[in-house]
Amino acid sequence: MKLTLEVDSTDGAARTGVVRTVRGEFRAPVFMPVGTRGAIRGMSTHELSSLRTAAGMRADILLGNTYHLMLRPGAETVAALGGLHEFTGWDGHMLTDSGGYQVFSLEPRVTDEGATFRSTYDGDTHLLTPEGAVAIQELLGADIQMVLDVCAPLPSSDRVLREALERTAAWATRAKAAHVRTDDQALFGIVQGGDAVDLRRESAERTVALDFDGYAVGGLSVGETRERMLPALEAAISALPSDQPRYLMGVGDPVSIIEGVARGVDMFDCVLPTRLARHGTLLTDHGRLNIKRAEFARSDDPIDPGCPCATCQNYPRGLLRHLSSLGESTAHNLCTIHNLTWILTFVEQIRSAIEESRLDELRTRVHAAWSQMGPGLGD
Ligand SMILES: [Zn+2]
Repeated sequence: MKLTLEVDSTDGAARTGVVRTVRGEFRAPVFMPVGTRGAIRGMSTHELSSLRTAAGMRADILLGNTYHLMLRPGAETVAALGGLHEFTGWDGHMLTDSGGYQVFSLEPRVTDEGATFRSTYDGDTHLLTPEGAVAIQELLGADIQMVLDVCAPLPSSDRVLREALERTAAWATRAKAAHVRTDDQALFGIVQGGDAVDLRRESAERTVALDFDGYAVGGLSVGETRERMLPALEAAISALPSDQPRYLMGVGDPVSIIEGVARGVDMFDCVLPTRLARHGTLLTDHGRLNIKRAEFARSDDPIDPGCPCATCQNYPRGLLRHLSSLGESTAHNLCTIHNLTWILTFVEQIRSAIEESRLDELRTRVHAAWSQMGPGLGD
C-alpha cells in the first residue's frame, strides 16, 4: 500500500506532515527507536507506550531488526504468535528492516541470487535473497518493510559503489515482484550509491521508476564525514517524490537529524539513544553527559529539571551515577527512558520549529551543543 505524506508546513526543504497507513497515521519528521530483537534494549514496549515527550506525545513508530528475528525466534514463530505487534505488545506503528545491514556486516558471500552468511547465534549458514527478505517480513507483519539492498562500506571505489547500486536495483525489482501482502503492508525501496553524488541521483531515479510505497536512503553514516554524507543525501532526495515519506536509515545523531530534516528527510532510526544509555551517556540540550563522572556522586539534581521523563521526575544524578558505575541493569533502563524521551522531544522541537519557520535558529543551537559528535554512533 502506497504511503503518502500530507504536508502541513514547510521551512525551506524541511517539512512537517502526516503519513497515513491502514493502522492510522504518524507525524513527520519522526524518530523510530530500535527494538532490536522485538524489544528495545533495556526497556519494555509497555514503558515505551507510556513514555511522553515534553508536549505530552507518545512514540509513533518502532523499528524491528529482521536479521535477529528471522534467526531467533524465527519469522514463523512470530507469525504463529500473531505477528510482531501481538508478539511485542506494541500497538503503534512498526517498521522492519530487511536484515541486509547486519548480514553485510558479517562479510557474506554475495552473488546475484543473494547473500550467504553465518549466523552469529550458532554459526549455521543461511542464504538471504530479495524474495526471502520480503517473505520473512510479511510473516513478521510490520506496517512497513524494506527491500534487501547492498550497502557498500565507505570509502569504496567507484567500481564497488557501482556494483552495489546495480545489485540493489536488480534486487529491488525482484522484491517488488515478490511482495504480495500489499493490502496492509508498505514496501520501501532503498537508494544506494555511497558518497558519489551522481550515483546517488541515478539510484534514486531508478528506485522511483519501480514505484515503491515509500523511499529510504541507505548506506550513509557508514564511516564518511558529514561533509561527504550531506551532498550524497541531497542528490538522492532531489530525485524522490515529494508526496511520499523519505527515510534516512540508521542516522540519528542530533546534528545529522536536523541537517537531514533541513534537506527534506521525514523518518530516522538509530541505536544511538539506547546504546549510549547502556554506557551511562545521557543526551541533553547541552550535549552529552556521562553520568559516571565522580562529580555527580553527591548530586541531588535530576539529569534535566525540564525533562518530563520518569527518570528525571524521580531520581537524582547521584543514584544514576551509583547504579551506572556498578553496571546495574536498572541504570540502563533509567538512562534509556531519559534518552528516548530526549530524542523524541528533540524531533518534536524540530517539528515546531518548521511550523514556526525558525528551523535555522534551532540548527544553530543544535550545532553549538553537538558539534563534537560525528555522524556515527558517537561512542
Ligand atoms: Zn529525563
